[in-house]
Amino acid sequence: MRAFSAVSLGALGLVSLAGPASAGPTTPDTYAGAPITDPSVTPEIIGVGHEPDAIAALDSPTLLFVNFDVGQVNAGCGNDARNDCSQLFSGPFTGYQGNASERAAVIQASREDVEDFGVIVVGERPPNDQPYAMVIVGQPAGGSPAGVGGVAPTIDCGNTNPWITSFAFLLDSGANTLATVIHQEAAHTWGLEHVDENTDNLFPSAGGTVDPKYTDACHQIVVNTDLTPDGNARCNSIHTLFCSANQQNSYQEMLALFGPPVPDLVPPTVAISSPAEGEELDYDADFELTFVLDDDRRPQIFDIVVYFDDVEATDAVLIDQEHSFPVAGGDAPTGHGFFNGPHTVRIEAVDEAGNVASDEVTFTIVGGNEVPSGDGSGDDGSGGEAGDGTGADGGDGTGAGDATAGLDGGGGSDDGGCACTTTTGGGTRASWWLLVPLLLRRRRQPGAERRIRGRVGGGRMRARRSRHLS
Ligand SMILES: [Zn+2]
Repeated sequence: MRAFSAVSLGALGLVSLAGPASAGPTTPDTYAGAPITDPSVTPEIIGVGHEPDAIAALDSPTLLFVNFDVGQVNAGCGNDARNDCSQLFSGPFTGYQGNASERAAVIQASREDVEDFGVIVVGERPPNDQPYAMVIVGQPAGGSPAGVGGVAPTIDCGNTNPWITSFAFLLDSGANTLATVIHQEAAHTWGLEHVDENTDNLFPSAGGTVDPKYTDACHQIVVNTDLTPDGNARCNSIHTLFCSANQQNSYQEMLALFGPPVPDLVPPTVAISSPAEGEELDYDADFELTFVLDDDRRPQIFDIVVYFDDVEATDAVLIDQEHSFPVAGGDAPTGHGFFNGPHTVRIEAVDEAGNVASDEVTFTIVGGNEVPSGDGSGDDGSGGEAGDGTGADGGDGTGAGDATAGLDGGGGSDDGGCACTTTTGGGTRASWWLLVPLLLRRRRQPGAERRIRGRVGGGRMRARRSRHLS
């Protein structure tokens, strides 16, 4: 087993605000039926030869680096991922066109395919001392080979060289189609070959199934997209650990190669930078709620909940970057309506693995209304929560509820408001509360599936495979 330390991906990186993700690029229907791997390229066969040698390379976790922005691919240095090298292409590359949210969706879809294995999928370059396969999502100058999804330079039986560069060309593809191509090309560099099963990630052409996986059954290895059976598969040394010669069980091979999942036990971070701790804010002044989400596995998608004075204000699905929300001053319901005195804002964030983090700051409102003496002195927070009918300006909770109810319909029909990112509200200085329905997403439910895909699966974050591959 190869040595493998915890992934450490460097200092916290601020990413500039991406625009709200819309439905995202979609896969042209014409791609259905097209070969995923360029059939005109004959991969070099490397790796182990026969059974006794195969074992030593197994059970070694790896990273899969999806490189959206390679810029330049280098020649003369093999297929070394660490130096952006390839024997297939060199020169300038056009990178992926999607924004930060769309990239996060591609990574998330790619993670789902390996959730049972020791493969960590990331969108930024791992340290060179970590084993990583790199799939470049891009197009060489002059375009990629027509009609194919990607290409890999090798079939490395047993993944004896973990640092191999391969390519996915579908720049305008949806997340799930792209994830399938990414996996197939990476899997070739891990020693997996094409099979005649269309529910498997190693099926040589796109289409025919809604959600290809690494399937747990022996399938005939094939030599082309016509599914001609292969009588002399390259990596029988590995295949025959689980199947007859010239058959492949991709699930069992992935498990043998990489072992079980490397759990993400590192909590994310959330840091509120505005308002500042102790900051005095004039009652009538608008302010920004600004915070940074981060995690050691980037990109990362978080479920967040924002509380003012322990009252839930909104939840959202956001990625690892800085986010900023406008909060309007003045009276509710167009303004925050906070009484004079201290208030807290707290953000709780849950990463894709369910790890939790939170941050909280206390700020002070001045120049506004005093807490009504009869309303439980100094308890402005619960006053709002109770919504005790004094309602009037007491109304954190009341105001939020009203705004939500009043605008829910609009929020529902709103096209663009992808939950994954939010900007600073554009030209509209709407109150915080008025933003609530636009940001609202399903509350987390007890017993919900641990992984975030179960929580955002119904949202806009993930494109649906069926749209692209069926
Ligand atoms: Zn292929």
